[in-house]
Amino acid sequence: MTIYESLGLKKVINASGKMTALGASAVKKEVAEYMAQAAQEYVEIDSLIDKAGEIIASYTGAEDACVTLGAAAGIAISVAACITKGNLKLIEQLPNSEGMPNEIIIQKGHSVNFGAPIVQMVSLGGGKPIEVGQANKTEPFHIEGAINDKTAALLFIKSHHTVQKGMVSFQAMADIAHRNNLPLIVDAAAEEDIKKYYQEGADLVIYSGGKAIGGPTSGFICGEKELISWCKKQYKGIGRAMKASKESIMGLLKAIELYVSEDNHAIALENKKKMEKLAQSLADLKNINISIKQDEAGREIYRAEIKINEKAANITAYDVIEKLKCGNPSIYVRDHYANLGIISIDPRNLKENDDEIIASRLHEILGGKTNA
Ligand SMILES: *Cc1c(COP(=O)(O)O)cnc(C)c1O
Repeated sequence: MTIYESLGLKKVINASGKMTALGASAVKKEVAEYMAQAAQEYVEIDSLIDKAGEIIASYTGAEDACVTLGAAAGIAISVAACITKGNLKLIEQLPNSEGMPNEIIIQKGHSVNFGAPIVQMVSLGGGKPIEVGQANKTEPFHIEGAINDKTAALLFIKSHHTVQKGMVSFQAMADIAHRNNLPLIVDAAAEEDIKKYYQEGADLVIYSGGKAIGGPTSGFICGEKELISWCKKQYKGIGRAMKASKESIMGLLKAIELYVSEDNHAIALENKKKMEKLAQSLADLKNINISIKQDEAGREIYRAEIKINEKAANITAYDVIEKLKCGNPSIYVRDHYANLGIISIDPRNLKENDDEIIASRLHEILGGKTNA
């Protein structure tokens, strides 16, 4: 029995990926033990923040890093840093940024919802989001044309949530930022590569500790030294409402240490095999087509994509998703393409035998209704 079941809550099988609504990541035992120790001792928090920043920076190749409560907090804090530039009087005035250069330029196709709106996190940091271009088309002139002396930073979102086509590339946006002497903030919350964006010209790069890295609820911003010092200073201002706890900072450090030492390519291939096995065990279901698909944002994640022939099966993908959720254990699958009759199974958070439970539930739901 899980600790949550002891409260009368349902057991969850998470085949949907790193979803905040399900607790993001279940940390490894080593991480949990590290956190438990950290929670039972005192430490000078400012020194811990500095030390954690140093350690994280060494993994990312950036000059320094600032730990955060998560990537959403990372956006607010990065924006606040670019607006207030370390000035404590201004830091205390936020989120009211009247009179300061506070405009944050973002492509319209990047103004997405990750569980909450990206632009709301910008506002929380005192930024005024300036959305440029159209939802499906933004060009460099849209960005250049919006830059003025009230501009504080450019913000680029690297995520499967954004529009993938017709947007200005990361590289082009970095060039525009630097030609105009502006910092480029990148939200790479769920990305697996914790070096790439800083290396390729971003000034501040934001990651979630609870997603690819598999840590507890946490996050960090890595980047250029002075900008990072301005980020840390936000803990005397808006950052206080989103502070990272000592135990989650320590959990993040252990999780990153394990993450960078693992062979993530081998793990991805092993997960892919697990999905191929699941596909085989569902091959007898007549009204579905199964294929193994790589992540739409290009990350090394292979998911089993199940296309339901809704007419023949006499059930919609939405209904299948609902039935999976309502059972016990409750099974959560990815529903991003349910409107197209597609559900997909993400292998990353599955525990031993979860794939068999999923296959058996899908047989119960879809099995009896073949049109053979
Ligand atoms: C998940 C996500 C966030 C928020 O991350 P948290 O660590 O949960 O705060 C922000 N931006 C994007 C693109 C995300 O996918």
